Amino acid sequence: MNNVFIVDLMLGRTARWLRILGLNVLYNPSWTDEDIIKIASELNAIILTKDRKLTSRALSMGLNAVEVAGKTEAERIGFLLKTFRLKPVIDPSKSRCPTCNSPIREASKDEVVGLVPDGVIRRQSKFWICVNCGKVYWLGSHFKNMCKFLNSLSNPSNSF
Ligand SMILES: [Zn+2]
Repeated sequence: MNNVFIVDLMLGRTARWLRILGLNVLYNPSWTDEDIIKIASELNAIILTKDRKLTSRALSMGLNAVEVAGKTEAERIGFLLKTFRLKPVIDPSKSRCPTCNSPIREASKDEVVGLVPDGVIRRQSKFWICVNCGKVYWLGSHFKNMCKFLNSLSNPSNSF
């Protein structure tokens, strides 16, 4: 998906997961509604927000905006995947850095020694590093829980 998304203050955690899912998501906690509208119109970005007022204001200006439903992180992600007809699958080769939205690349264990806790080095075999901010990622428990949830979306009969 080539769309650019911009999320508001309340959806910072959602932004992280959308980046992991490979979407181009702009987010800055200091942006006001005005900033978000300005950036969205300049970049033709889709606004994601929980704020009904911001949604209708953006729509009335001819911008693309979606009021995000869902109480939990998982529900919000499920809602957005459905809305944009995205596959509920995380492909790390397409993921973006959840922190800064830049591409990430696979890294060897040797490369990340000293950058992550020793226990993580012992337990994990796969690592990714952000080409921009240098943050290292691995398949931790949050990630596994999200994968389980995404799986339940593709196999509704097995859902919890
Ligand atoms: Zn980064």
